[in-house]
Amino acid sequence: MDWEAVLDRLSAFYGRGDWRTPYLRDHAENPFQVLIGTILSQRTRDEHTDLASAQLFARYPDADSLAAAKPSDLEPLIRATGFYRVKSRVIRECAEAIRTRFAGVVPRTYDELLALPGVGPKTANCVLVFGYGIPAIPVDTHVHRIANRLGVVHTKTPEETEERLRRVVDERYWIPLNPLLVQHGQNLCRPRGPRCDECPIEDLCATGRALRSGRTPPRPEDGPGPARSAGARPARRVSDRRSRRAVPTRTGTRSRRQRTRRGRTRPRPPPAGSS
Ligand code: SF4
Repeated sequence: MDWEAVLDRLSAFYGRGDWRTPYLRDHAENPFQVLIGTILSQRTRDEHTDLASAQLFARYPDADSLAAAKPSDLEPLIRATGFYRVKSRVIRECAEAIRTRFAGVVPRTYDELLALPGVGPKTANCVLVFGYGIPAIPVDTHVHRIANRLGVVHTKTPEETEERLRRVVDERYWIPLNPLLVQHGQNLCRPRGPRCDECPIEDLCATGRALRSGRTPPRPEDGPGPARSAGARPARRVSDRRSRRAVPTRTGTRSRRQRTRRGRTRPRPPPAGSS
C-alpha cells in the first residue's frame, strides 16, 4: 500500500484534518486531559465528549484534583457521555493511580499506560500520539474497518489490526494515520454505505476497485458486509420478504424480533481497560 499517497490525498481532501472535537483538539498538549477525554469518548458521540470534557476539566484539570473528587461530584459533569457512573469511577481511579504511582504525571510508555485503570490499547496509543507526539497507531472501529476495506489487513479485532499495521506501515506514517482514517470513516467510508464514488483513494482501495469493476469486494472476516455504492450490485440480493426479516447466524437464521429479545442490540457499558 502506498501510504504516502493515501495520507496525502486524505489530508488534501479533508483540509487541515481537524477531525477531533474542539475541546480535545485545543488541549492536545495536555496528556492527562487527552487520557481522560479518550476514556470519556468511549461509546458516545464527539459532541458529548466535548461537552463533558469542557465541564470536567474546568473543575478538575489534573490528576491531583480529579483523584480527590467523589464519583458523585463527577457524574453530573460527564452525564452526556452515557455510562456516566462507570466512567466516573474509572476516571477517578485512573487519576488516583497517576497521582500515587507516577507523582501526578501521565506515564509515556505503552506498558505503563496500559496498567492504568480504564486504559486499553486504543487509549494508550492516543495518549502517546496526541499527548506526547510519540509514534503509535490508535486503532478504533474506523481504523479497523478502513484498513480491512483497503485490503492491507484481514483481521477480526482492532487489536489484531494494530498489531498488523505496526508491521506493515512505516513508522513515519503512524501519527497522521489515525486522525485521517477516523475523519474518513466519519464522512465517506462509513460503516454502512461507504461513498466510494466520492472517495479520493478509491483507486488505491481493494473494496473501491472491486465495486467499480462490478466484482464482490473482499469482505473482512468481521466486517459490516459488502460495501455498496451507487450503481454497484450487492453481493447477495435480498429481495423477498422472508429474507429481509431474517438475520444470518452460524447455525441458520433468526428473526430481528428474536435477536432483540436476546438483548444483542443493547449497548453494553465500557469495561475497564477495554478502550
Ligand atoms: S473506496 Fe470506498 S471502501 Fe475504499 S476507502 Fe474509499 S470509501 Fe472506503
